[in-house]
Amino acid sequence: MNAMAEVVPVDSVGAQGLAPTGILDGVRAIADRRLPMLAQSIDADSVYPEDLMREFGAAGAYFRHLPMGPGLTPRRGPDLETSIRAMSIAAEHCLSTAFCIWCQDALGWYIYNGGSDALKAEIGSQVAMGEVLGGTGLSNPMKTVFGIEKLKLRATAVDGGYRVSGNLPWVSNLGPGHWFGIVFSVGTDNPRNVMAIVDCDADGLTMVANDNFLALGGTRTYGLAFREVFVPEAHVIADPLEAFLPKIRAGFILLQAGMAFGLIQSSIRLMEQMKRPLGHVNSHLPEQPEYFAEQLAAMEGAVFELAKTPYETSQDYFAEVIRARLLAGDATVQAAHAAMLHCGARGYVTGAEAQRRLREAYFVAIVTPATKQLRKMLADMGEPLAA
Ligand SMILES: Cc1cc2nc3c(=O)[nH]c(=O)nc-3n(C[C@H](O)[C@H](O)[C@H](O)COP(=O)(O)OP(=O)(O)OC[C@H]3O[C@@H](n4cnc5c(N)ncnc54)[C@H](O)[C@@H]3O)c2cc1C
Repeated sequence: MNAMAEVVPVDSVGAQGLAPTGILDGVRAIADRRLPMLAQSIDADSVYPEDLMREFGAAGAYFRHLPMGPGLTPRRGPDLETSIRAMSIAAEHCLSTAFCIWCQDALGWYIYNGGSDALKAEIGSQVAMGEVLGGTGLSNPMKTVFGIEKLKLRATAVDGGYRVSGNLPWVSNLGPGHWFGIVFSVGTDNPRNVMAIVDCDADGLTMVANDNFLALGGTRTYGLAFREVFVPEAHVIADPLEAFLPKIRAGFILLQAGMAFGLIQSSIRLMEQMKRPLGHVNSHLPEQPEYFAEQLAAMEGAVFELAKTPYETSQDYFAEVIRARLLAGDATVQAAHAAMLHCGARGYVTGAEAQRRLREAYFVAIVTPATKQLRKMLADMGEPLAA
């Protein structure tokens, strides 16, 4: 599967010299400058913030979690924490943008952990720097692997690759020139699952805009129909998938914490802002911003600790990752709900931040792996919900 080609090291393409603090300062400056104005149109008019995504990429938001250092030497460990923090900064303003960042992070995570050097050479560094954008169609495979639904893409092996057919209902952060990860099954008698990266401009791929959502409208989410789409062997990153999955699953899940942390942070801010006008009555609400601030600090500590060893494969470790993700979804909904109650009627009008954050918060709990899937995974593993 490994077509040998020159692989461009991530750190040599413009972000070298940028330490985590430099990256995060840059991401915060961009987010604070652009997102307060943009968030409303992303939500209400499904505006996809493409140039912002590229700006974040140039600032280094999408590469610290990748396992490659200069000259393709492994880093001391991929730095998921910085990528999570960058996503969280965007999520303080807008979850659509933060989710697009996660999609981008996941695409790079697949490519750089995968077995195709040709793909790393072709688009790896551009994905790492946000010059090529894209996402991940792995919701269905993640549900398949954990016994929830059947794989939706099937392929036949042909000369030099595969012909893939089937439908994926939702894939985000897509568009012309964008790429995304898929998994398809090959063969009928003894099928095996193969993971590859596909380009949105591939012949036979039809993309139907799918933006009638409660929130997350600006994520360029498409329903995808594959009709005999050719996937070259050089774009296969794992064959079979099952051997590769333990390598990427913890990173896939932990990176999502950035969405939760930023949204909780903004809910705390909304509650704090209401103290002056409404503190005399809001003080009677059962949940106060201090509670969420304490919970957020604990969650960040736990996630950043787990994020130090994303390749660990023990059941104990993976159960902790699942529990952290479960808590992140629950806490996000809880914090956004509390912010809504603190804001009262101010938060209930069209265009108010509190109602948008509440709608967005549910996404953290339903995006794969959804709350119900996380609970099923723990149950199947014989693990308790809380350690
Ligand atoms: C805004 C948005 C963006 C997303 N982006 C991505 C992405 O980039 N990549 C990705 O892989 N997944 C994406 N998803 C899917 C997401 O990750 C979850 O898989 C999805 O929200 C459902 O997860 P669930 O576990 O709750 O499953 P459930 O909703 O419980 O069940 C899912 C199953 O129900 C079926 N179904 C869904 N809608 C309907 C309907 N209206 N009527 C009947 N059946 C239906 C589906 O075919 C699917 O098999 C996105 C979803 C949303 C809402």
